[in-house]
Amino acid sequence: MRTKELRIFVYEYDTVLELPETDQKLVFAARDASEKAYAPYSKFQVGAALLLANGEIIQGNNQENSAFTNGLCAERVALFYANANFPDVSVKALAVTAKNINGLVAGPVKPCGSCRQVLVETEARFKNPIRLILDGKKKIQIFEGVDNLLPFAFKPDSLG
Ligand SMILES: [Zn+2]
Repeated sequence: MRTKELRIFVYEYDTVLELPETDQKLVFAARDASEKAYAPYSKFQVGAALLLANGEIIQGNNQENSAFTNGLCAERVALFYANANFPDVSVKALAVTAKNINGLVAGPVKPCGSCRQVLVETEARFKNPIRLILDGKKKIQIFEGVDNLLPFAFKPDSLG
């Protein structure tokens, strides 16, 4: 029997203005995207913004449906748009934010398990870690790579 220790690094900031400029820009793009979310049922408007290697910023937001299971998270809306329109361009960073009827949530907003799995696939596809910037009113967290959010993930090489 072996015991392994898992270390996860998370970098925390109190406000968006403490972030490096590129991260700030991405958080503001995510907040802008959250304003356009289609979330009439939950009133929980999530915004995502991706930074691609070519400098493009791709926005996404949650898209709800009256048949609830047919909706899609902001992160996957952005990732699938990016992969559909820029299939050869790697994803460098993702910012995620959310607001409810009271405004920006305390946060930090955490991607759901399904979005983490798609992030794992995107990292594997482009062979580079994605910087994750999770926004919130009281705290912002940054993770360098999805392994910090989804350790022991099912990856393409798991099929072998
Ligand atoms: Zn999700």
